Amino acid sequence: MRDTLVLNASFEPLSTVTLNRAVVLVLTDKAVVEHAHPDLRVRGAAVDLPVPRVIRLCRYVRVPFRRQAPWSRRGVLVRDQHRCAYCGRRATTVDHVVPRAQGGGDTWLNTVASCAEDNHRKADRTPEQAGMPLLHQPFEPTPADAMLLAMRASERSELPEWLARAAA
Ligand SMILES: [Zn+2]
Repeated sequence: MRDTLVLNASFEPLSTVTLNRAVVLVLTDKAVVEHAHPDLRVRGAAVDLPVPRVIRLCRYVRVPFRRQAPWSRRGVLVRDQHRCAYCGRRATTVDHVVPRAQGGGDTWLNTVASCAEDNHRKADRTPEQAGMPLLHQPFEPTPADAMLLAMRASERSELPEWLARAAA
């Protein structure tokens, strides 16, 4: 089942919830629908509303501390949109910019998506040592970025423009 993106009352992305949970939040007046699926509807005994893609809480929820998005190989591929940081072609592997053999770690700022060929070619060298400059610098996604990035590309393209911009 598709997840629904939940925004804080301030429009800041907070989390995702299941469709059922989203419908309950809307029906109990805890949230309003900001963006709905153009065709699909939720139908039940007392319910008939468009499938919510994005809902916004009616009351502001204070987020006590800013969490970091946890690093993962999949997360790096998603962040870089499966594009190789060295040649721009489709990437299926994750490369350590400073190789692990030289002390580089599993962090957002030290890893990029890479095609298998370039990953193999670069081997245990830095981009400078290998003469393979990065096309773009790796960045640390905020939890909100990570959440938006985790949505499928087709779903992202259907988001309202202001939200898609925040996700870019
Ligand atoms: Zn490549």
